[in-house]
Amino acid sequence: MKTIEAENVVLGAGAAGSMAAFELARRGEQVMLVEQFGPGHDRGSSHGAARITRHSYSDPLYARLMPMAFRAWREFEALCGRTVYVRTGGVTICSAGSDHVALVARHLDALGVPNLRASGAEWNRIQPAFGLPADAHTVFEPDAGMLLAAQALERATTTARVLLGDRMRVLEHTRVRSIDLDGNAPVLVCDGLAIRANRLIVAAGAWVDRLLPGLAGRREVTRQQVLYFRPADLTPYELGQFPVFISMGLGPDAAFYGMPACLGMGVKVARHAGPEVDPDLSDRAIDPAYIDGVREFLRVAIPGLAQAAVDRTETCLYTVDPREHFLLDLLPGHGRVVVASACSGHGFKFSCLVGRVAVALALEGGSQIHPPEWTIAARLG
Ligand SMILES: Cc1cc2nc3c(=O)[nH]c(=O)nc-3n(C[C@H](O)[C@H](O)[C@H](O)COP(=O)(O)OP(=O)(O)OC[C@H]3O[C@@H](n4cnc5c(N)ncnc54)[C@H](O)[C@@H]3O)c2cc1C
Repeated sequence: MKTIEAENVVLGAGAAGSMAAFELARRGEQVMLVEQFGPGHDRGSSHGAARITRHSYSDPLYARLMPMAFRAWREFEALCGRTVYVRTGGVTICSAGSDHVALVARHLDALGVPNLRASGAEWNRIQPAFGLPADAHTVFEPDAGMLLAAQALERATTTARVLLGDRMRVLEHTRVRSIDLDGNAPVLVCDGLAIRANRLIVAAGAWVDRLLPGLAGRREVTRQQVLYFRPADLTPYELGQFPVFISMGLGPDAAFYGMPACLGMGVKVARHAGPEVDPDLSDRAIDPAYIDGVREFLRVAIPGLAQAAVDRTETCLYTVDPREHFLLDLLPGHGRVVVASACSGHGFKFSCLVGRVAVALALEGGSQIHPPEWTIAARLG
């Protein structure tokens, strides 16, 4: 078997891995990025045109981190020379009996982020595309918006190549079969190739437990189904007319989210949950009962879309931590190996920040931003 050496290896070219590679390049560090599929593939968690970004969080940890995440994206845009953040405004919705919106609003106020509270009836007057129950709770955040996901990932690796030239290598269609941690340097074992890394960042998303079987904690890989609705008149739902939205507790199975029609696509709507799957066997079929469930939600919240045609679908994977936290830490006993599996269905907006934390851990053994909730120790409890 051929063996090659590399200073910094990033395993996985999804959001976390691409941003780690970008951060290494920003710091002038050599990068080898190893990916089992091709560029922009749709088998993991990071594909698709756009992702929601927002300060609106009920969990104070993520609310507090969001101003830094927004700053990191602005710096990313400045260095890449491409705008990937699209400000659309975002509304968070919950049913009358829930305190979700109250929590979100309290954190927005604490951060000094402009926001507007409204009842369901008031919101329907402000945004007639919605038809919420009159007693629902809502909070609108003008700075929420979309991150152009596919473009951001493409820019991250392209800019890294520009910054590093031939000190940046990308091995695509290269599946790592196992990681040998017995020696004093981690070795990635692929078909006919072994890569000895001085430092390794494992950003393997849904496959992390396959590559690091002893990793503490439990993560569930779930299949997400995404629908794009195209009503006869798309105008009220287009960019500039319609916000991103997160809805908790309205209709069946509770959590739904969506974003305005843009980039030639219809209105994206999906449920924030799905069945557990094997990441290698996840099929792309959309379950008709799932579509019925989303239509039922729309009947309650955005009635004009409930009967609209679905003209595009996507499937995608979540890697879900029981408390929806990220896992980002040095591997115990292996000071050269960082695990960066930040998903739980809400990691894209943090990926610039996650890239920075992962690289700081790899290069300096520590990071100023490193919440205890993200550590392996927190999973040993
Ligand atoms: C439908 C959907 C909607 C979402 N919406 C939002 C949103 O609105 N806002 C938000 O902030 N977040 C959102 N997220 C979450 C966000 O997209 C993820 O947190 C993020 O993309 C995770 O990136 P990742 O790099 O950890 O995983 P991935 O993108 O899956 O990257 C892991 C990579 O590792 C590679 N890999 C794995 N094993 C191997 C191996 N053995 N050898 C070589 N390569 C390997 C994989 O092929 C893959 O490319 C959403 C996710 C989904 C699925």
